[in-house]
Amino acid sequence: MVAAADPAHELVLVGGGHTHVQILTDFAARPMPSCRLTLVTDRLLTPYSGMLPGHVAGLYRHEEMHIDLARLAQAARARLIHAPAEGLDRREKLVCLEGAPPLPYDTLSLDIGITPDLGAIAGAERHGLAVKPIGSFLHRLEPLLASAAQPDGPRRFAVVGGGAAGIEIAFALNARLHGIAEAHRLGAGAFAVTLVSGEEIAPSLNEGARRRILAHLAGKGIAVISGFRVAGIDPAGIRAQDGRVLAAEAVLIATAARAPSWLGRTDLPLAPDGSVRTRRTLQVLDDEAVFAVGDCAVVTADPRPKAGVFAVRQGPTLAANLRTRLRGGAMREHAAQRAYLTLLMTGGRHAIAARGRWFSLEGRLVWHWKDLIDRRFMARFSAGR
Ligand SMILES: Cc1cc2nc3c(=O)[nH]c(=O)nc-3n(C[C@H](O)[C@H](O)[C@H](O)COP(=O)(O)OP(=O)(O)OC[C@H]3O[C@@H](n4cnc5c(N)ncnc54)[C@H](O)[C@@H]3O)c2cc1C
Repeated sequence: MVAAADPAHELVLVGGGHTHVQILTDFAARPMPSCRLTLVTDRLLTPYSGMLPGHVAGLYRHEEMHIDLARLAQAARARLIHAPAEGLDRREKLVCLEGAPPLPYDTLSLDIGITPDLGAIAGAERHGLAVKPIGSFLHRLEPLLASAAQPDGPRRFAVVGGGAAGIEIAFALNARLHGIAEAHRLGAGAFAVTLVSGEEIAPSLNEGARRRILAHLAGKGIAVISGFRVAGIDPAGIRAQDGRVLAAEAVLIATAARAPSWLGRTDLPLAPDGSVRTRRTLQVLDDEAVFAVGDCAVVTADPRPKAGVFAVRQGPTLAANLRTRLRGGAMREHAAQRAYLTLLMTGGRHAIAARGRWFSLEGRLVWHWKDLIDRRFMARFSAGR
């Protein structure tokens, strides 16, 4: 706890991820005059990943899947610093920023996400297109899709990563390419999409959901290669560790991810995947003044997979505990749910639901269910737009 009602208390949020956007709305609804709130972000529009596949497939517009951080910060009376954080001096309590002076904090919270570990695949940085950060992905995807419409454009696409993100991106990409082929009269079968996975497809989902996914992939002509551990990517395609080669002119990467590398240059306690290790209160293990949430963090005593649902659920706990830092009182321990609902779109207005070891369901109604959940989430951040 810090001195109550300290007028100069600097509360700094780094990253406008799924948890921090809720802090901004919380502080907009119930301002805390005793602190100065600052949001540091490398992007003014933060993407909502739940709608990304729908956007790639052409079902949502760019603005429908982005949250306007400048507007949220204004509503929360927060100062906004548009610069990436690149370091941390915990002794002096400073956040180091790229192209801006160091920023003092009394309380700091990190919600900066993760990105695929491109360093693990030779040539991935140069020849692959990582689905995260989503902003950079979309920036590079649109020109790629535009070139696909050209006579000499890419025809063979590979998506690397057999988890939920890779599966959804493969479905979405396939749907979008289908539309391009139709619009430009390229003929059915103009494009080939292959989903490549080191293990089996969707290892974290139950058997019924996996069967449904595989049936839809096959039905849409998306080839699946599992047990293909990618060693390298070059302009001709991808190479597996066992020497197999898959020809592809475009390779999208949705593999296991790591926390941003700059965290590794700090003295924060980190898990092997680079995530910041926290207590159940979401405070860093060895530091009461620093919180870390979402994909870039792991609650050491109660780890969960990296998924937006967990980042979203941490919002109320983080909001309560940041207020406790300012006002005093007991910190709340976060209780993350065990089983969670996965909703995967299959390219059109159709989706597959999975939860726990047994439940799976699919259909157009499931899509409408997913669409409703996603639109409801986004509506919380778009009031007055
Ligand atoms: C294709 C795809 C589909 C997915 N679908 C789902 C789904 O349906 N359900 C689900 O639960 N999960 C889904 N996920 C996973 C989901 O994307 C993540 O779990 C979720 O985004 C994590 O939220 P976060 O708040 O930790 O980070 P992010 O949402 O990644 O937010 C991090 C923010 O921090 C900013 N930032 C990063 N570095 C810095 C820096 N140095 N300085 C300042 N700001 C910085 C970023 O610009 C970004 O705004 C999907 C992922 C992908 C790739």
